[in-house]
Amino acid sequence: MQHQPVYVTEAKRLEQESAIEQILSMQERPKSFHIVTYGCQMNAHDSEKLAGMLIQMGMTEAADRRDADLVLFNTCCVRDNAERRALGNVTWLKEIKKDKPELIIGVCGCMVQQPQMAERILKQYRFIDLAFGTHNLHRLPTLLLNLLTKRTRVVSISDQENLIAEGLPVKRLNAHHAYITIMYGCDNFCSYCIVPYVRGRERSRKMADILHEAEGLLESGVQEIMLLGQNVNSYGNGSEGRETFPGLLRELDRLGVPRIRFMTSHPKDLSDELIDVMANSSHICNHLHLPVQSGSNEILRLMNRRYTREDYLRKVEKLRAAVPGIGLTTDLIVSFPGETEAQFEDTCSLVREVGYDAAFTFIYSPREGTQAAKMDGRIPEEESSRRIEKLIREVEASTARVHQSMIGKDEMVLVEGLSKRDPNKISGKGTRGITVTLDGSAEDIGRIIPVTITSAAVNTLRGERKER
Ligand code: SF4
Repeated sequence: MQHQPVYVTEAKRLEQESAIEQILSMQERPKSFHIVTYGCQMNAHDSEKLAGMLIQMGMTEAADRRDADLVLFNTCCVRDNAERRALGNVTWLKEIKKDKPELIIGVCGCMVQQPQMAERILKQYRFIDLAFGTHNLHRLPTLLLNLLTKRTRVVSISDQENLIAEGLPVKRLNAHHAYITIMYGCDNFCSYCIVPYVRGRERSRKMADILHEAEGLLESGVQEIMLLGQNVNSYGNGSEGRETFPGLLRELDRLGVPRIRFMTSHPKDLSDELIDVMANSSHICNHLHLPVQSGSNEILRLMNRRYTREDYLRKVEKLRAAVPGIGLTTDLIVSFPGETEAQFEDTCSLVREVGYDAAFTFIYSPREGTQAAKMDGRIPEEESSRRIEKLIREVEASTARVHQSMIGKDEMVLVEGLSKRDPNKISGKGTRGITVTLDGSAEDIGRIIPVTITSAAVNTLRGERKER
């Protein structure tokens, strides 16, 4: 059962608007900003909202962080290396600040929301001016105003984790592809994952608000909407069954959004109803990101994933029967505590059995506060490197088989831009989510073009425009 969300009230919204007005009236205020984003699409979309608010405060976006008056690091803490990379980059700016003392350095997002992190930042990173967590992103104007008027460092970590802030301005990174967050947080507590501790409990936006946002995007010419949530399948849990994820998809399909994608789907919650909606929709792309994490039942149990290898394979079979030609991608973790060679091999054999289009592969990274961090049986680094390399080879072989099987098939490609290697070529994504390159020009950007696949490279497909 999801927790009832608390919507940011009108009074709070007015407080932010008043902060924006006050900042705009200040002579000495930052004029430009640069945001560095780490982690998942949810974070990328949060950065679009941060950018939207900063633009409302009269700032322009600087392409290079060295040219900005305010640099914000929107961080991730899902893996140790993401955290280290972010702190390394923040520290690099310390040098720049020596020559440019008015530079404002801020950190926000999941890393900052972790217990004791704010205290650590205050003590160890004295050059950081502003730090705020995931639950008070919408308060950026007030926090910045406090910083500018009181001239003291501002650290604000809220533990009110069931908040939803509607109506924030968004500076979309892409004119044709847009993100919509439909739910926040996660209740699954997979034993390795820090997300439920930093993003809070599951809460869903109202369907009417989501549809309103989608309508606006459609009017502005967006061709593809990606629905985001830590577990989109639990959208609407707790709304007494009135608002469900399949129901939301049906409404968006009816609205006529040309292409609909969503992520992430927890395999245990992939229902027959959802498969049915995917099979009967005219707009939902034939691609599903379905993170399996491991092919071993014992490791899945230790991960608290609440499905078995057999359950997962049964769902894959159902999906493929209902949506022929659907492409599957996944996330995989190697070297979970205690993982034996045989259990690792179970993951490799699952990759072969499913035949994924692609997979994100990771070495297990212990996160303080999670159940798995307390487990025995850490796998030595050298062995983990061997396992991940082997798994990557398995995934590459699977991708190559899928790409070969696509030759001669037709695809609808949403053109994203000119190819980086050849300006006479364009590239975009087919409905399966695989990148396709073909001859074309800048005029094609944002169009959906029918293409026949002619050859396959390692990470991409090549195609020819179909005669109409
Ligand atoms: S479903 Fe599991 S892995 Fe995904 S965010 Fe929730 S706890 Fe983390």
